[in-house]
Amino acid sequence: MENRIKFYNTLTRTVENFIPNEDGKVKMYTCGPTVYHFAHIGNLRSYIMEDVLEKTLRYAGYDVKRVMNITDVGHLSSDADTGEDKMLKGAKREHKTVMEIAKFYTDAFFSDCEKLNIKRPDVIEPATNCIDEFIHMIEALLEKGYAYIAGDNVYFDTSKLKDYYVFSSQSEKELMVGVRDDVDEDTNKKNKSDFVLWFTKSKFDNQELKWDSPWGVGYPGWHIECSCISMKHFGDSMDIHCGGVDNIFPHHTNEIAQSEAYIGHKWCNYWFHVHHLNDKTGKMSKSKGEFLTVSLLEEKGYDPMVYRMFCLQSHYRKPLEFSYEVMDNVQAAYEKLLKSVAKLKEEGDLDQAKFDLYKEKFLDALGNDLNTSMGITILYELLKDDMNDKTKLELIKSFDEVLSLNLTGGQKDENSVDPELENYVLAKIAERANAKKEKNFAKADEIRNELLEKGIILEDTREGVKWKKA
Ligand code: AMP
Ligand code: ZN
Repeated sequence: MENRIKFYNTLTRTVENFIPNEDGKVKMYTCGPTVYHFAHIGNLRSYIMEDVLEKTLRYAGYDVKRVMNITDVGHLSSDADTGEDKMLKGAKREHKTVMEIAKFYTDAFFSDCEKLNIKRPDVIEPATNCIDEFIHMIEALLEKGYAYIAGDNVYFDTSKLKDYYVFSSQSEKELMVGVRDDVDEDTNKKNKSDFVLWFTKSKFDNQELKWDSPWGVGYPGWHIECSCISMKHFGDSMDIHCGGVDNIFPHHTNEIAQSEAYIGHKWCNYWFHVHHLNDKTGKMSKSKGEFLTVSLLEEKGYDPMVYRMFCLQSHYRKPLEFSYEVMDNVQAAYEKLLKSVAKLKEEGDLDQAKFDLYKEKFLDALGNDLNTSMGITILYELLKDDMNDKTKLELIKSFDEVLSLNLTGGQKDENSVDPELENYVLAKIAERANAKKEKNFAKADEIRNELLEKGIILEDTREGVKWKKA
């Protein structure tokens, strides 16, 4: 298959041509949400841009299988294995069980995704479904000497790897060790960068979800779940792994460490990371400032599509600052765009040459490190082009397979007429003409008033009776 897609690979720090392991087929894994609260629109920026990547690959003709985990255990408040379990925190906050919280916020997450036209992954796997797989991998890592038991927990030994900090340059590595000096250090660890594979000596006596294991009753660390869940569905290699930039370290770094130690060879070739959505004070979070959710945007009168367009207008590798001013501008632009599209009529024959030309342009833009704003520019360009409406409409439908902005199915043209209403009005006009013919002017007036009450105005002109909406 022709290679039409290139994007930035965090692993090689370059924009690379995408070549999957198996011709035409893509194995794509996404770190799913930690379901202890609603997703904020920052989280959803990552999922929107990953959705665009998946749809761009499909648009280019690839057969994509997408797997996503649901983190319902093991993700502590700090990604470095310290702090409280986020799920437990959610359960305490709402006086519910962890599984009730997980169910509620998993459903809420997919409902937000649906509103934002984010396609459901082919496989969705909660971490708590895969405890046996985690235990199996941890046993193998212990056997191979990559893991050790200390203070009753099982840790991954990062000193056993030639290069643990795979994503970072030398100066960044020095910085990371420095940063980790400030972290409340776990004295069981042999090396600062070691991480927990299995907790048995839980700091939380009230840890609700616990399982038997060869090392005692406990629960898995966060990182092991993504390695196991992806291998469960993809085997020992995959093409693309996605997440937000905060996942690069330590989460994805640890995933690579344990996965490659387990399988003994390279695991995933392309790492796709979406930069953060920030608010005016910095990185968006669930605990500080206004907790921005899709529902909140809806309450404020924004169509979720406006937020999707807001994201698509900027590049996924740049930080994006959220503001209501910009949302208002995007809302106005989106409404105008829908109106222009709604005016197009299914008329004329498809101009195949124009259709192919614009499709190529669009794929070139999206295939060039996911240049979504250029994709939207090409959409505006085609609307101004002199091709017929039919070709425009077909192209817009085609682009919307990737942009997913409801461009042709959304809002109706204000001037468009519901065929049912039209039939009704025409029947009334005919009835009134008959009444007039029979000199029954009272009935004719009655019909005119009846229509007026329904917001329809009749005009007697030389060309006959015309009607319009009031
Ligand atoms: P979490 O539910 O915390 O596991 O995060 C879900 C996804 O959202 C992960 O891929 C994170 O990297 C990503 N993420 C977290 N905060 C932001 C943000 N402010 N902007 C964009 N993505 C984010
Ligand atoms: Zn993950």
